Amino acid sequence: MSQKKANGKVIFVGAGPGDPELITVKGSRALENADRVIYAGSLVNPTLLKLCRPETPVHDSAHLTLEEVLALMDEGTRQGETIVRLHTGDPSMYGAVKEQFDHLDKESIPYTVIPGVSSVFAAAAAIKREFTLPDISQTLILTRMAGRTPVPEREALANLAKHQASMAIFLSVQDMGAVVEALLEGGYPAATPIAVIAKASWPDEEVLLGTLETIVEKVKVAGIRKQAQILVGDFLDPVNGYARSKLYDPTFTHEYRQGTEK
Ligand code: SAH
Repeated sequence: MSQKKANGKVIFVGAGPGDPELITVKGSRALENADRVIYAGSLVNPTLLKLCRPETPVHDSAHLTLEEVLALMDEGTRQGETIVRLHTGDPSMYGAVKEQFDHLDKESIPYTVIPGVSSVFAAAAAIKREFTLPDISQTLILTRMAGRTPVPEREALANLAKHQASMAIFLSVQDMGAVVEALLEGGYPAATPIAVIAKASWPDEEVLLGTLETIVEKVKVAGIRKQAQILVGDFLDPVNGYARSKLYDPTFTHEYRQGTEK
């Protein structure tokens, strides 16, 4: 095992949501210096690969099993390579990275993680919304519907919906009818605003705004079946307004500013 400690290493990089300018400076430097790149080709924008040296081998992990990805890492790092593993958005959300980390730990192969802009934030930016409005919600739930990958029962969408917090639902637009049903069952009123943002930050980004009553039809008409964020909650359209922030309230005193109120 000790020979495996050659100077190679793996850098997990969040590629961002699609727009190649939304990778971090640190992530783009890692790509420039990589000896080998393994990228999640189903969602990562291939334009980012142009940052690599022309001779750098690149592998699309969409065609590979975990074992094949790990074998590339083992072999490359043994030769002293710095390998970039490029994941869409931020690697910590549905990135299937833990199983890679565990293997690298076991083999004593060093690795680091460079975060990325998750599609959840690119989706909020696309529609110019803030998840955390005073008096409306101070919580954002990031989740998905159960599909071929199960979700623990206590986290079933209808259970989470009971909080009526702001919610971002990944990996679920193909089951839009079931998503809406679960949200209604959990207690969101039918008039609750909901948005579907497909391919946020890509040139062919699509935005649908509606309510729990109208969104299923809109998604159907638009033909959106994948790569979309579903955002739900009153933060999208606070009909009765929301309280302004304390932070910028002239009467409110905090660490950096004396307010007018004693
Ligand atoms: N790690 C990624 C998520 C990977 S799971 C991240 O942080 O964004 C894949 C899911 O992410 C898709 O099913 C979709 O729900 C969402 N997604 C990824 N890219 C997206 C984009 N550009 N626009 C909207 N949703 C996106």
